[in-house]
Amino acid sequence: MNPSHAQDEHEVPAQPVAETPVDYMAHIKGMRFFDPHIHMTSRTTDDYQAMADAGIVALIEPAFWLGQPRTGLATFKDYYASLVGWERFRSSQFGIKHYCTIGLNSREANNEALAEEVMELLPLFAYKEGVVGIGEIGFDDQTAAEEKFYRAQLELAKEANLPVQIHTPHRNKKEGTERSMAIALEHGLDPGMVIVDHNNEETVKSVLDRGFWAAFTIYPFTKMGNERMVEVVRQYGPGRIMVNSAADWGISDPLAVPKTAALMVMRGISPDAIRLVTYQNAIDAFAQSGQINEADFATPMLIDQSEKFNGNTILRGGQQPRRDASSLLIK
Ligand SMILES: [Zn+2]
Repeated sequence: MNPSHAQDEHEVPAQPVAETPVDYMAHIKGMRFFDPHIHMTSRTTDDYQAMADAGIVALIEPAFWLGQPRTGLATFKDYYASLVGWERFRSSQFGIKHYCTIGLNSREANNEALAEEVMELLPLFAYKEGVVGIGEIGFDDQTAAEEKFYRAQLELAKEANLPVQIHTPHRNKKEGTERSMAIALEHGLDPGMVIVDHNNEETVKSVLDRGFWAAFTIYPFTKMGNERMVEVVRQYGPGRIMVNSAADWGISDPLAVPKTAALMVMRGISPDAIRLVTYQNAIDAFAQSGQINEADFATPMLIDQSEKFNGNTILRGGQQPRRDASSLLIK
């Protein structure tokens, strides 16, 4: 099985495209969004530009698996280093504040020998600037090895006083979600420090009732589409609910958060509620890391694309850098 986020065994393909209002940008003018789960390493500069144009001002990139298993510790190390280094720089070149969560994903926890080595590496990255949680961790196939490393990382989160971003399994979701929460409680985690991701209508009530944060991934071709998200917010209210795209290397939509906000506007959800589920709740949850300062993205970020990261630039030969006027002034 291929656990790209865009796959859910019980999900029935809905009518694609038609759900997305063509003129959605007209409904969200001036609104600001925070996507708390998106894998930018897999996305293009066009995506960054479109996200900035749609009002996304900040994002969280969870560490996850890359579509095929890594074969050694060095590739994990380079990947984590890129999340706090090059990818953060790339994001800044489009005016988007980039945060990440660091963790060993459930899929690769099943290579136990390598996973043990990764566990020793994690503390070297968990305490770095801009790391807002341990994630995404949890269950995939719900194996004994996954449980072992999930528990070990819950302990690391407690030790580091960081929020936890839980990936719930796409198969046996209800059971996997309940089990993930029970184990987190068993380890003494405050549910207010735990963000349970990839919820659906079957899991949301229990997650909220137990005091956890409930994140929802908007998949472009499955039934947890925008309309369903509107209904969830209508039914449960906006408290402790957040929307994300989980866009990665699979079929996914990096504009899922602003598009969902547009649909909520059209369906009459209040502006306050929309702001909570597409911006503020994610900030409140992950700011418990002490690593998010809203002032960093409260006003448009100055962009100077002539900047370099370790001597490397996003520009290709002959391209003119974008330099915001005020950034020229301080040069
Ligand atoms: Zn993910």
